[in-house]
Amino acid sequence: MDIADSGVQEEAFYVCDVGDIVRKHKTWKAFLPRVQPHYAVKCNDSLTVLEVLAALGTGFDCASKGEINKVLSLGVSPDRIIFANPAKPSSHIRHAAATNVSTMTFDNETELHKIKNFHPDSKLVIRIRCDATDSQCPLGMKFGCDPVLEAPRLLQTARSLNLNVIGVSFHVGSGCREPSVFKRAIAMSREVFDLGQALGYNFTLLDIGGGFPGDRGTSLDEIAQVVNSALDDYFPDPSVEIIAEPGRFYVSSAYTLICNIHSIRDVISEDETTRHRMYYINDGVYGSFNCILYDHQRVVPLPLHEVPGSKYYSSSIWGPTCDGLDQVVEEVLLPEMGLGDWLVFENMGAYTLPVASPFNGFPVAKVHVVADESIWVLLKDIMPLTEEHFVMGDLPANVSIESGGNVAIELPIRMQVTG
Ligand code: PLP
Repeated sequence: MDIADSGVQEEAFYVCDVGDIVRKHKTWKAFLPRVQPHYAVKCNDSLTVLEVLAALGTGFDCASKGEINKVLSLGVSPDRIIFANPAKPSSHIRHAAATNVSTMTFDNETELHKIKNFHPDSKLVIRIRCDATDSQCPLGMKFGCDPVLEAPRLLQTARSLNLNVIGVSFHVGSGCREPSVFKRAIAMSREVFDLGQALGYNFTLLDIGGGFPGDRGTSLDEIAQVVNSALDDYFPDPSVEIIAEPGRFYVSSAYTLICNIHSIRDVISEDETTRHRMYYINDGVYGSFNCILYDHQRVVPLPLHEVPGSKYYSSSIWGPTCDGLDQVVEEVLLPEMGLGDWLVFENMGAYTLPVASPFNGFPVAKVHVVADESIWVLLKDIMPLTEEHFVMGDLPANVSIESGGNVAIELPIRMQVTG
């Protein structure tokens, strides 16, 4: 077994392509021109992502005092933030009031009373429930009031408390696999707008939430067609402001994770006719691959270097900790790989880094930021790039990441990785 490469540079690392985030924004603008995106900070709260999006002019969906502070610290004005957590601790509501973040969602009566106490002048958005029949992470079991059974009572309560409700929001489920749900949800929102009108409100905001796909090879096309035509049908009045809270759309494909194989175990069947190979890599479900547990992701390992004509073997991939739950891929056919070889995982930007922990002493993977020259030129005038945006240290000496190589990842030239 060749162990020559092992032990030199072996830490797992990310490559974040800023250009991918910028291209996503252009796509959003082209496909959903009426909908102003408010990036869901929870999805990936890295400084680079937030600053790039702030520079591009998106708004932000924050779920807590901490997320609000993070966004405000970038110089984003509070009116670009929606506090889109329908169940907020009172101290966070007070903080929103103190920092002039005034747009926030609700879906229950106790929230209305808290808001009356701590932020009575806020602009409220009622969140209704409308679930996709199929989504990666359903949310309706936790948030969103029934638009027919509950919304009338909630709006009456808001009215009696003299609170200012300005519109309706929904979230069909993250990783939505039923584009037509957006038509149902927009139609329901129309009914709640009309209900609001009957109670004396004049709603001016519709928030269509998240759920938009973000992996390589996915398209916004189908959902955009449904959304645009439903907006034309149900909200033709251009004075109604339409916003959304996309998370994974903006960041999933921008991040590629590269892991090193540090141990291998062969399991041979009793009759010695079959072999299963267990690869142990230096990131797992307690680190970046927490997305397997929490975000129901299926991750696809791609060998960084593959010898043409390789034979494939039944394999599994395991994380570095001593926990049996720490399995990354249960069964996959892979060419024979050795110690020190690298596995590449694309589409790792959404719901990975903010949750990752250094459990068992294995550090969270660092991020190397890259961009091609045109993106660098575009951004340098609108975004003050500092050393904090970049990881110190070089990429591993035995990994080459170049455009057009036969590696699984295609990356532009490196923007600036100091070392
Ligand atoms: N908005 C809210 C309130 C959410 O809870 C989420 C995700 O859980 C999002 C937006 C982002 O959703 P997505 O990543 O599917 O776009």
